[in-house]
Order: sequence, then structure tokens, then C-alpha cells
Amino acid sequence: MNSLIAEHLIEAIKDIVSPPCPLHEPLFIGNESKYVHECISSGWVSTVGSFVDRFEEMLCEFTGSDFAVATVNGTSALHVALLLAGVSEDCEVFMPSLSFVATANAVAYCGAIPHFIDIERTNLGLDPSVLSAHLEQNFVRTGSHWINKATGRRAGAIVPVHAFGHPCDIEAICEVGKTFGIPIVEDAAESLGSYYKDRHTGTFGESGILSFNGNKVVTCGAGGAILTQDEELQKRAKHLTTTAKQPHPWEYFHDQIGFNYRMPNLNAALGCAQLESLPEFLERKRTLFQKYKATLTKLEDIQLVEEPEHCRSNYWLQTIILKSEEASNSRDSVLHQLNQQGILARPAWIPLNQLPMYSSCPSTTLDVTNAIVPRLINLPSGPKLMQEEYA
Ligand SMILES: *Cc1c(COP(=O)(O)O)cnc(C)c1O
Repeated sequence: MNSLIAEHLIEAIKDIVSPPCPLHEPLFIGNESKYVHECISSGWVSTVGSFVDRFEEMLCEFTGSDFAVATVNGTSALHVALLLAGVSEDCEVFMPSLSFVATANAVAYCGAIPHFIDIERTNLGLDPSVLSAHLEQNFVRTGSHWINKATGRRAGAIVPVHAFGHPCDIEAICEVGKTFGIPIVEDAAESLGSYYKDRHTGTFGESGILSFNGNKVVTCGAGGAILTQDEELQKRAKHLTTTAKQPHPWEYFHDQIGFNYRMPNLNAALGCAQLESLPEFLERKRTLFQKYKATLTKLEDIQLVEEPEHCRSNYWLQTIILKSEEASNSRDSVLHQLNQQGILARPAWIPLNQLPMYSSCPSTTLDVTNAIVPRLINLPSGPKLMQEEYA
């Protein structure tokens, strides 16, 4: 039974792509070399230069965000966005149990405590109705804050995540934030090119963050950005990520403890070229999804995760769910067999609450998380896999 699922899966995948296929390989088919060379020739390779400004402008244009602040990576973007949302040591920060570790780490860097909320079956993101009921039941209003009755800490922020690029129910989550007066910082690290009702993910909260790590939809080598619609917040973000140095022709005056988080020009040069290719990458990834869908629907034991209703997903990572309990027990053996064939599939992240440093953090009951996460497998998803079709 076990090996049969894997066998069918391998056969179906090999119909579409030829191993070896990595999970998500970067692709450089545009002006990457040209811009990086230009950057080196200009001498401006570090944290000042025209490519950084251009990269920010291109991000605003693509996402429809009013402002973007480029950073060294997505984690640093999230760290600063949380600080600017007022997250501090007396806080708990709500996030889905299913995310990359950086979401919780950034909260810990602020001295705050992650508070894990169960996810929705459909989009694998934070469940707004679970969060709302949890706040009603276990938090009490004191002045302008909601305080956890058990821990005495205040609700500092909500960090929704668009898991694997699929938009979560961000509109309903923003409603919860509004009702309880809790700021939203969207972790859109994986969802560049994903939309909720025609609006780009990462532009709903008081801020949102993107990542340009090597395995994301487009890459700067390493990089991140804070998106915001608030000019004051943009200014503070830029100040805080550039060591809080006050502008002056020669004087080094820093007015608070800042961070050396500004994206270098060299990375931005790569990023500008990648953003030019983004529409094609998104098209290729959608084609790959359609091909997976056409073949995998024939397999009874497997369900392919599709973009949620009213949403457009970038299909960052193609995800399958092993449907039956029996199948779920065989996840590791399925993974093993796929990898042996050069199909470098991966499990979903281990839920954050199961990692040693976060195992004693508060959470809701995590029934959906516990039922579904052990049954998830991410399939090879990079735009390079659709090379021939677009050559
Ligand atoms: C990749 C990622 C980050 C962190 O981005 P880096 O650029 O790797 O620091 C944060 N959150 C999520 C959900 C991610 O997938």
C-alpha cells in the first residue's frame, strides 16, 4: 500500500518533470549578470546605491504598496516591522502554528512571546474565528490593551502567514485586529505575486514583509523588504534599518539603537533583474500547478492544495495532502522514495510549537495543525522546471 502511493506519485511526477528536480531552484534568464556587473563597475556595492532605490520602486509598482524598505533578509524585515508595531517584552504575538521558524524568531528577538493559533484546512493559514474566540475567552480588556488572563502579558500583534504562497483569510484576520485594536504585521515572505481579492498580500496590515532568499519566488541572494501604506512608518523603518543615523554630510550621530539591516546595492542589482522576470516565473509556476493537477487528480490518495477562493496564489511551493490516515502514516517512506528518484520533495515545517525553544509558548488547541501537517508534502516547484515550455 505504502510503496504503491509513492510509485504512482513518482510515475505522475516524472510525466511532468525530469529528475533531478530540487524543491525550488533559482532561475537567472534576464539582466542579472548585466546589473550585477554595472553595480560592481559603479563601485557602489554596499548599503547605498541606485539599485536599492530602484528595487524599492519596482516592489511598490508590482505590489501596489505605497512604500517599501529593502533589508538584508526577510527575518530582519519582520524584526523591525514588529518593533515598529510596538511589540516589546511584555507582549504575546499571535501567529499560525505552521510557519518557517523565522516568524517566531523575529518575535523572540523583540523579547516577546509567540502565541500559536490553529490553522485553516483550506488555506493552511491562521484561522480568524479561532483567534477571535480565543481572545474573547482568554483575554481581558485593560485600558487600551487586551491582557492574557493566564500570563498577564498583553496582545502585541497578529502575524498572519501566507503559507506556501497561498493567501490566508487576511480580510477576516484584519477584522479581528480592528475589533481588538491589535496591529497586523503580515508575513508575506512566501507570497510575492499572490493576491487576496485583487489586492497584493503584504499590503493589508499596518506593515507586511517579503523575503528574497535563494529559495523564494525571486531572489536577491539574500534580501527582504517591509511594505507599508504609512509614510511615517516607512521613514522610521528606513531609519531603524540604517543604524538610526541622522542624515548629515559628515557627522555620525545615531539617535537610538539601530540595526545594520539595509539591503546592499549588489543584492538589489540581482533583485531588480529578478523582478523583471517575476511575471514569467509566476506564469511558469501556474503552468506547473496545472500539470500537477491534471496528473495528480487521478491518484485517489492525494489532494493537491489549490489557491483559495477569491485569491490568486503564486504557487511558491506546490503542496499535496495525503488523504487517508493510512497514507499519512507512510509520509516518510513516500518522501524517502521520491528523494531516491531525484524528486527532492520535502515535508512541511514541523509546527513551531513542537520546536524545543517554543514548546512552552501559549497556544490554542491545535487540532487542525496536528491532523493535517504530518500529511503535507511539498513537491518540486521552481520556475526552472518549466524550462522547455518557455524556451
Ligand atoms: C523565508 C521566510 C522568512 C524569512 O526570510 P529570510 O529572508 O530567510 O530571512 C520568514 N517567514 C517565512 C514564512 C518565510 O518563509
